[in-house]
Amino acid sequence: MKAVSVFPGSREVKVIEQKEPGISQPDQVLLRILDVGICGTDWEICTFEYGTPPPGDDYLVIGHESLAEVVATGAAVERFQPGDLVIPSVRRPCPHPGCLACRSGHQDYCYTGDFTERGIKEAHGYMTEYVVDHERYLNLVPPGLREFAVLAEPLTVAEKALAQVSWMMRQRPPWLDPATPAEERGRGLSALVLGVGPVGLLGAMVMATAGFTTYVYSRELPPSPRIDLVTAIGATYVSSQATTLADLAKQVGNIDLVYEAAGHSHFALEALGWLGTNGIFVLTGVPGVQAFTESDSARRMRDMVLKNQILLGTVNAGPDDFASALRDLELFRQRWPEAVQTLIAGRYPPEQAPELILGRQKGIKTVIAFDSSSG
Ligand code: BGC
Repeated sequence: MKAVSVFPGSREVKVIEQKEPGISQPDQVLLRILDVGICGTDWEICTFEYGTPPPGDDYLVIGHESLAEVVATGAAVERFQPGDLVIPSVRRPCPHPGCLACRSGHQDYCYTGDFTERGIKEAHGYMTEYVVDHERYLNLVPPGLREFAVLAEPLTVAEKALAQVSWMMRQRPPWLDPATPAEERGRGLSALVLGVGPVGLLGAMVMATAGFTTYVYSRELPPSPRIDLVTAIGATYVSSQATTLADLAKQVGNIDLVYEAAGHSHFALEALGWLGTNGIFVLTGVPGVQAFTESDSARRMRDMVLKNQILLGTVNAGPDDFASALRDLELFRQRWPEAVQTLIAGRYPPEQAPELILGRQKGIKTVIAFDSSSG
């Protein structure tokens, strides 16, 4: 079977042939991969800035945003049967008995850093035809979401962020009543999304769905399918090429939430300076090596203290976030049927994966399809 692989030693990205895997433990599930999304992390891995092959291997099968169909189940598997659609999570727990996070099933909060991540860190990923995984790492997908479910993994980033933000909003201003319906959590509050990549756009959809008055700020100028999507979901797009952060802040008023999804450290720090009183700033981008610049750290620190601000980094996601992502995908589909159609730019065969990952992304999300019938 084909597997899109990166060889850091020889600095190659290519499609290799591999033996199909089989079930060897009773809690395992054999999966046929349908879709795998390409993201910025894949680009970093394929430019050898990030990613590590499993111990003993000189290559890493990439791909972590996946959708698969259950082919066969081990004797102890209870939740799945052949034909079910599933999304595997990405991170696997570290082996240390003292890691409170991993030992309680919250490996997205692993303390030790010795976790593995499929398709990223010391474990092969999903950009291949068949994989085997343990039942506990799989999330059941409603059949109606076949076309869009590959977006669930990148959507979990925003879901995990919003879950933490909602929790904080209950404990401190605006003292959100826990009984507030999900779609009214952000009512009367503003959210500023930085970046128009898939994580930013999906984040904007999550914030808009939660009732925030949502702004998206990025370099891009129209015409662009990304800007069209922002407008279609009722959010406001502002280009940094036309409007400064200072002017944007005037337009927005108190910026209650910033959801950073650009992975650009200077841009993020500059935006932090415009976060409002009692505001929460969520960082989700993972910057690569970037030029050193100075910033007024004393001013940032003074503002953060005097305005009761929170700076929150968040990575990966847990089972609840996958459940929320699948629920929200269905909601997006009902609420913005046309906009949702534009999220997936195209489906391409695995042979084209290396050039697509290394090339410039054309639409919003590029998907590698292993199921030839999906077109
Ligand atoms: C993936 C996460 C992963 C993170 C860091 C992201 O692209 O979506 O699952 O934890 O990279 O490796």
